[in-house]
Amino acid sequence: MRCDSNRPDRDRLIMTHDELLAKLWILPVNVTELQHGAKAVQALRAVVELHKSYPYTNYRGEQLHFCNHCMDDEINNTDYPCLTIQAIEKELM
Ligand SMILES: [Zn+2]
Repeated sequence: MRCDSNRPDRDRLIMTHDELLAKLWILPVNVTELQHGAKAVQALRAVVELHKSYPYTNYRGEQLHFCNHCMDDEINNTDYPCLTIQAIEKELM
């Protein structure tokens, strides 16, 4: 399922994109910086788990990987690492 596709849980959206970004950057008054950092790492870990690699063998017998999250569309599978994982890897280097 792609992030921009019609999601069945779309009505469960509780934050806008900008609110989500602000939540990551702004330290709440009742939370320590350490607690806030731990929550951000936990959120990042959830994204990485969602976008884990999914192995498959192509018609030539080659072992390849798709992104588990970005591959539910049979026509447009996304090679692993997908753009989400690439962006995370870039920031962690
Ligand atoms: Zn992905």
